[in-house]
Amino acid sequence: MSESLFADASKRLEKALKYVAISEDAGERLKYPKTSLSVSIPVRMDDGSLRIFQGYRVRYDDTRGPGKGGVRYHPRVTMDEVQSLAFWMTFKCALLNLPFGGAKGGITLNPKELSKPELERLSRGYIEAIADFIGPDIDILAPDVYTNEMMMGWMMDQYSIIRRQISPGVVTGKPITMGGSQGRNTATGTGAFFIMQAMLPRFQQQPDNTAIAVQGFGNAGMVVAECLYHAGYKVVAISDSQGGIYNEQGLDIPSIVAYKRNHRSVANMYCQDTVCNIGNNSSLTNEELLSLDVDVLVPAALENQITEANADHIKARYIFEVANGPITSGADAILDRKGIYVFPDILVNAGGVTVSYFEWVQNRSGLYWNLTEVNERLKTKIVAEAEQVWKIAQEFTISLRTAAYIHALNRLGEALDAKGTRDYYLNRLK
Ligand code: NAD
Repeated sequence: MSESLFADASKRLEKALKYVAISEDAGERLKYPKTSLSVSIPVRMDDGSLRIFQGYRVRYDDTRGPGKGGVRYHPRVTMDEVQSLAFWMTFKCALLNLPFGGAKGGITLNPKELSKPELERLSRGYIEAIADFIGPDIDILAPDVYTNEMMMGWMMDQYSIIRRQISPGVVTGKPITMGGSQGRNTATGTGAFFIMQAMLPRFQQQPDNTAIAVQGFGNAGMVVAECLYHAGYKVVAISDSQGGIYNEQGLDIPSIVAYKRNHRSVANMYCQDTVCNIGNNSSLTNEELLSLDVDVLVPAALENQITEANADHIKARYIFEVANGPITSGADAILDRKGIYVFPDILVNAGGVTVSYFEWVQNRSGLYWNLTEVNERLKTKIVAEAEQVWKIAQEFTISLRTAAYIHALNRLGEALDAKGTRDYYLNRLK
């Protein structure tokens, strides 16, 4: 795909704008990120050399509250990608009616090449570089691809050192002992599962007659697969960056999860073993996984996995986007034509930011909830918004994606219009 990710992401907004009655001003403002910061982060490596890493933080919109979004460590991180992820966060937070705007951050690197002390220096250096740009009431960080709760702990600690006060609310997804919430590390997968559990029976898809393939076996994909397995669904294929495994009878997910957890290396942070090494199941490539003849496909890895080049090969009837942006807008049209239901990322993976919101609330109130309480609140919230999206899609006979954007846009437009365009200030400049 030659077009930028952000240009492609913006097409979803253009489409939804036709259905909403928000002001032209509000629609126009949502087409551009509010602030984009690019930083260089010097890190002293273990061998004594100095390496400079490129980092980003984008606050796309903060009309509904402080910016909120994860930090990604990946070799393919660019400003274009971070802007797109911040754009999706803006709509996701509005869709779930969370009092947050959208933001995102990232550093361009292959984290598997760094030692644990180097990763700690990098994570602290990143906070040093963006400290004036973030805060519990300004912009709040969280984990994303190849970042985890240990790194969130370092980031929160570094911010607290800079501010000379304990500031747990600046980062969510922290270790529980540093003010993290119960259920945050499983929230994205659990939220996606709650939506699948609520939506699949509408199509007579019960656990015993539903075969599912999950692409990506990290924080999000692994939890979805576990929840589905325990609810009796047949998870027939899973994969990670190295490839996947398939078993027509259904995979034994708990033993695969245990294998992955026990074989972690690189200072116990990154999994070096791949799911291909596990058991007597047959192996398959990621491309083969995407075109399996299953009922449900769950892309839970990275963006741009289903494009115009392979959308025609998709045989699943229902797709639940756990990853951000796994389907391009060009592929959307092909999947639509094929009658495939796509439950969009800004709804399906919103469990993560929802429990991040719960964590932020708990940090501010000082009152902490148990896991049952967290999961019950998550289920109530995410299923209610999914029902609204379903209703809008039925009402206008449109895709679930456009319906999700309409739902979010109505809230964003209302907030932007309530704030006004600051014409008083603009007029004074004339
Ligand atoms: P993670 O780093 O824990 O896991 C990523 C997984 O994807 C790993 O198993 C990796 O091996 C696999 N992977 C990478 N490239 C792949 C490829 N080409 N094909 C197949 N698998 C591949 O990351 P995560 O937190 O699980 O995030 C996955 C997706 O979910 C991302 O799009 C992320 O933005 C999105 N997401 C995550 C959260 C969260 O709370 N973690 C919240 C919302 C959205």
